[in-house]
Amino acid sequence: MLLFLDVDGVLLGKKNPRDISHSIAAGCDEFIDFSIEHFDCYWLTSHCKGSADTVLNYLKPYVTDPLYEKIKLIQATDYRTFKTEALHGDFIWIDDAPSMYEIKYLEENNLLHRWFQVNTRQDYHALEKIIQDLNSILKNGFL
Ligand SMILES: [Mg+2]
Repeated sequence: MLLFLDVDGVLLGKKNPRDISHSIAAGCDEFIDFSIEHFDCYWLTSHCKGSADTVLNYLKPYVTDPLYEKIKLIQATDYRTFKTEALHGDFIWIDDAPSMYEIKYLEENNLLHRWFQVNTRQDYHALEKIIQDLNSILKNGFL
């Protein structure tokens, strides 16, 4: 199964919603370990758009060296306008805030259940919780 990952609001969040600065979300190491072990992982962020180097450079100041080595394994995607252009196959998409068009596209194509909302700016621990949902899908499929 493919896992498409957003960066801002997912891997990067806020310890306190009122903070100005961002930090790597709680449980990110565990989440990335789990994701790389169980899924084909792809970036799906405006920081990628065809180049994994761009997103890696963006994340470098926030991550430890060991985590940096792990996120190097995540593959690039490309899209022009809408992230949904890059989605394909048997996928799960983790994003804090798809656009109205993207939500509509998912609805119209019966794909909405494949989007998991994680917002680590509002809930710094959201990544820790999503692991359980992903585990359940791996074991039982989509319910
Ligand atoms: Mg985002």
